[in-house]
Amino acid sequence: MEYRKLSQTDVALDGVKSELARHDRGDEKKIIFTNLGFANLPNQIYRKSVKDGFEFNLMVCGSSGLGKSTLMNSLFLTDIYSAEYPGPSQRVKKTLKVEKQSVSLKENGIQLNLTVIDTPGFGDSVNNDKCWEPIQEFIDLQFDNYLNQESRVQRPVHIPDTRVHICLYFIAPTGHGLKPIDIEFMRRLHDKVNIIPLIAKADTMTPDECDDFKKEILREIETHKINIYEFPDHDDEEENRINRKLKDRVPFAVIGSNCVLQINEKRIRARQYPWGIAEVENSDHCDFKILRDMLIRTHMQDLIDVTSVVHYENFRARKLSNVMSSKLTGKSPMAQMEEEKREHKLKMKKMEKEMENVFETKVKEKKQKLKDSEHELTQKHKNQKLKYEQDLAELEQKRREFEAEKQEFEARIEAEKKNTKKKTKTLFS
Ligand code: GDP
Repeated sequence: MEYRKLSQTDVALDGVKSELARHDRGDEKKIIFTNLGFANLPNQIYRKSVKDGFEFNLMVCGSSGLGKSTLMNSLFLTDIYSAEYPGPSQRVKKTLKVEKQSVSLKENGIQLNLTVIDTPGFGDSVNNDKCWEPIQEFIDLQFDNYLNQESRVQRPVHIPDTRVHICLYFIAPTGHGLKPIDIEFMRRLHDKVNIIPLIAKADTMTPDECDDFKKEILREIETHKINIYEFPDHDDEEENRINRKLKDRVPFAVIGSNCVLQINEKRIRARQYPWGIAEVENSDHCDFKILRDMLIRTHMQDLIDVTSVVHYENFRARKLSNVMSSKLTGKSPMAQMEEEKREHKLKMKKMEKEMENVFETKVKEKKQKLKDSEHELTQKHKNQKLKYEQDLAELEQKRREFEAEKQEFEARIEAEKKNTKKKTKTLFS
């Protein structure tokens, strides 16, 4: 007979087996208390998450000058936009571009790889028709890249997530509701990305005006059937209460500032006016703190999940249905993919060409500027030389006049001296 020493796990497993055996088979779920050690699972996930870090991709969109870069710097308490990389309005103005800026933030050993995607030039042209198109293409491209990586035979262990998790859409504080471009943008993109509308520069409105403006925006959003980000329902009543509170403040009215004031013992991020200050992080002044808490502390994971489960899945389903419909139309999926690849290549080429054109115009502008300043400098130099020569001639003339005057004066003195000598002689002779 063979004897084996029973470990703690064996004992626990025996317990599980006998417990299962005691229950008859049915739909009812059995709860069995064990000490196998899987209660440690959350810790394993925690350790893995800490090791991998988190990826969060945030898009800011809205016309230039609405305070997007200032708000980003205020949100992440860092200069996401700095001297080397100025805010969107300081960059390309005439054509809309989608640009990324990444920073790694660390807090208590946890790393957040934050990418801010901005769209300099949005809504700045005379004709803003289809200005949402490059943004839509960018978002789709990220989904496409992710899908390609997922569908590979040899899938990477970690697929870099470049999908856009949230789009903060800045609305100008006009008090007159949404502009056509705002409606069009949100309508086109609401099923591709989580949109959170923000009222920019809220310090330019009184609280009553701001409340009315919020109501008007929500009314228009409903009329145009725009789906902005929905705060999730929870089983927990406390969480639901927090979500209701957040929902009541949408669209968030925000203030941004790059200025930190020292008031009494406290350092406060604020905007200072002759009649007082508007505090960025004071919830009585604006919704900045609520937005930041929501984005960073409470809803970041939900935003990532909704992107992955809703928007990305929608994209995948659309893509698959394209493949299916290609089957119906008689095209093979491979042919369809090839066609899509070709289209994508063409699109990339077009984008490349556009970028080259922008680059060329920039270089031309720069060259022209250099030429202008060179011409200006030569002209300045010429003028200065001319002035210098004139001054010199004037001085020479003055010197000559002075010399003549001096000679005249000396001759007079000499003559006077002679006269005096003569007079003295005749007086004593
Ligand atoms: P962007 O082009 O949207 O990135 O705008 P900027 O962040 O560059 O801001 C444009 C101008 O608006 C700057 O002069 C900022 O100081 C100012 N600004 C930024 N945020 C606010 C705000 O909340 N209220 C007010 N009144 N001005 C702001």
